[in-house]
Amino acid sequence: MNDLTPAAAVAAPITQDVMTIPRKLPVSDKVNIIGLTREQLKAALIEAGTPEKQAKMRLGQIWQWVYYWGARDFALMTNLAKDYRALLEQRFEIALPEIVTRQVSADGTRKYLLRIAGGHEIETVYIPEEGRGTLCISSQVGCTLTCSFCHTGTQKLVRNLTAGEIVGQVMLARDDLGEWPEPGQGSTGERLLSNIVLMGMGEPLYNFDAVRDAMLIVRDDEGIALGRRRITLSTSGVVPEIARCAEEIGCQLAISFHATTDAVRDKLVPINKKWNIAELLQALRDYPRLSNSERITFEYVMLKDVNDSDADARRLVKLIQGIPAKINLIPFNEWPGSPYQRSDWERIEAFADIIYKAGYASPIRTPRGEDIMAACGQLKSATERARKSRAAIAAEAGLDS
Ligand code: SAH
Ligand code: SF4
Repeated sequence: MNDLTPAAAVAAPITQDVMTIPRKLPVSDKVNIIGLTREQLKAALIEAGTPEKQAKMRLGQIWQWVYYWGARDFALMTNLAKDYRALLEQRFEIALPEIVTRQVSADGTRKYLLRIAGGHEIETVYIPEEGRGTLCISSQVGCTLTCSFCHTGTQKLVRNLTAGEIVGQVMLARDDLGEWPEPGQGSTGERLLSNIVLMGMGEPLYNFDAVRDAMLIVRDDEGIALGRRRITLSTSGVVPEIARCAEEIGCQLAISFHATTDAVRDKLVPINKKWNIAELLQALRDYPRLSNSERITFEYVMLKDVNDSDADARRLVKLIQGIPAKINLIPFNEWPGSPYQRSDWERIEAFADIIYKAGYASPIRTPRGEDIMAACGQLKSATERARKSRAAIAAEAGLDS
């Protein structure tokens, strides 16, 4: 090799979407502003030397720069005095996860693989639709739960995401969509990223505080300002946290229901062994009143010959009687080694028909981004080595492998 050729220039092929970054992010002793609640940021500003009398005003100014304008550099904050900006620069940072890869599906769905502190990886998916766009965000690296049809469930929990890493997913997507306002240009009102679903990797109610803080930041009127009805949290059924979710986050709720008897739900969604269908339904009956939301979404993955019979559809309708609800049927998305098959299309339609005739909306969710493994339940970072074998997944689900 020519001694003058830097090794890196030879070794690392860089494509448009793949960036090579160090395995470990540099550790900084600065306080990251992203993810701090208003109260926490105010306290941090005072701690850094902001006079108490000015703290409220400085907080408002910085908040707006960061969350309304998308500023990443204190030097841009021109309504702050120069020496105050220097102080901020010294004590704080505005740090987001790093985008490792960005894949775009034939249907326009974008999947981002992000690297967070510690070198772990998470996935975030943007789904464009007519007149709106939904960002599916992750709340944990992996998941402690082991739903037998879910790819993430085969990956052990590595750690909870911080509030900053959750808000960071939203901010990075807005960067990629070019959606921060341009100074001097009024907002058009139409948003590319108009909705958020907590349906990526992880069980959001097992990372309650960080998810709550992140959603309150995203909702804040002086920043990203997404209405609470545009945020949907999906849970497998962490019953004791459901009332808290209504009271402290106030978002829409989706429940991974997936079965109509405890015997089947125990196998599909093992948290059912802890809080069964009856206990879950009781918590759901109280939700709309507590959160002042309209209806609950019941997610139901269609698994061939497992949970897709007419009898299941009728039982489902009976179980949820009295709960304002919509039932979202999800054709099973296969992943390498998955122990189930997707129900036939006619079966899914017959199932939907029974529910519809009972008076419930029963949309069938179109799988999006299947070609880039971005569909529901397919997310899993390929590099996490803590994997379970196919036999272990089947055994945990009580299936014959
Ligand atoms: N942990 C939360 C949120 C993430 S999963 C929860 O379980 O609700 C988001 C949705 O995708 C859930 O309804 C989940 O049950 C569903 N899902 C998981 N794996 C799937 C798969 N392979 N095909 C279709 N839907 C799946
Ligand atoms: Fe975890 Fe949700 Fe997957 Fe179950 S479906 S393993 S709770 S991410």
